[in-house]
Amino acid sequence: MKTKLHLLYGGKSAEHQVSLQTALAVTKALDTDKFEVYPLYITETGEWKRGGLLNGPAESVHQLKLEEGGTTIAPLALTNEEETEETQTVVFPLLHGPNGEDGTVQGMLELLNLPYVGNGVLASSAGMDKVIMKNLFDQAGLPQVGYAHFLRSEWEKAADTTYEKVESELGYPCFVKPANLGSSVGISKAKNRKELEAAFREAFDYDRKIIVEQGLEGAREIEIGVLGNDEPECSVIGEIAPKTEFYDYKAKYEDGDTAMIIPAEISEDIYEQVKEMAITAFKAIDGAGLVRADFFLTKEGKLYINEVNTMPGFTPFSMFPLLWQHTDVSYPQLIEKLVGYAQQRHEEKQ
Ligand code: ADP
Ligand code: MG
Ligand code: MG
Repeated sequence: MKTKLHLLYGGKSAEHQVSLQTALAVTKALDTDKFEVYPLYITETGEWKRGGLLNGPAESVHQLKLEEGGTTIAPLALTNEEETEETQTVVFPLLHGPNGEDGTVQGMLELLNLPYVGNGVLASSAGMDKVIMKNLFDQAGLPQVGYAHFLRSEWEKAADTTYEKVESELGYPCFVKPANLGSSVGISKAKNRKELEAAFREAFDYDRKIIVEQGLEGAREIEIGVLGNDEPECSVIGEIAPKTEFYDYKAKYEDGDTAMIIPAEISEDIYEQVKEMAITAFKAIDGAGLVRADFFLTKEGKLYINEVNTMPGFTPFSMFPLLWQHTDVSYPQLIEKLVGYAQQRHEEKQ
């Protein structure tokens, strides 16, 4: 049976361009004997456009913008799809950040009763909100650095009280982050009161809620892929070695000189611990399909979980697909597995 696969990409977020690149790579990887591929593009202004059947790889990002021959649709039109005995529809959201990775798109697809790749509403939104995510990890007994959260309204009323709380409970250096973002946007490291004040202002520009964490110095950053539904599996471990003071937005998207080491040089014992913690984290948010779980490993050999990403970077050069490639799952196989997990989960819900 052929799968009618709607690639959902673009979106109203900072990761619009990345999403287009991912979609282009995915069209190149799909086997047209198994998939009928349809482009579904969300423009930068939030308009939904769909294009006709793609018979093979898209030629360019430009083509995927559907400027020629694309039809503007209301998302609800997706439910008017004709399901035949020979096809089954699956949506593959290739979107990152708010309005893509945070449960909103997933909620819409639930309402439309369509199978879709990746995490559901709850896992997506819990994974997007760093405070909720950390609370769930705490409850699951996962080791993490100390943290506290603040609302813009309380900071506006009594800024000094919020800074004093950070200083007495967490100390310096600390990391200040918008609660609901990714790609290091709005994140700063603060080493003193002056930097803390600037960091609060910066983070509150992006969100009404922020999280402040104890900062680790000199810890290694290691990442692992988790794949599956009720019985997820782990990939090998990768390490990122940013040249900057931390893995900031620029290091992620502009410099390109952050080293990615796969597999990371770590002991078998640490690998086992990371795998167990990653599965625990996946289950703590009730994950489905995939997550990339990120950890800090200190010089003393102590592991802390940093976060899970429910829609990690997914170009063929991103950490998650590369981790699986080193685990003998190629990019096309990875996509097929994810579509399979989407169908399995959909069937289980019926
Ligand atoms: P995002 O979801 O935007 O990737 P992260 O929480 O992963 O946000 O933070 C981005 C980067 O900031 C991390 O990859 C790491 O380099 C650095 N960082 C974040 N939190 C800490 C911390 N508590 N201690 C040390 N470094 C941190
Ligand atoms: Mg993240
Ligand atoms: Mg991160």
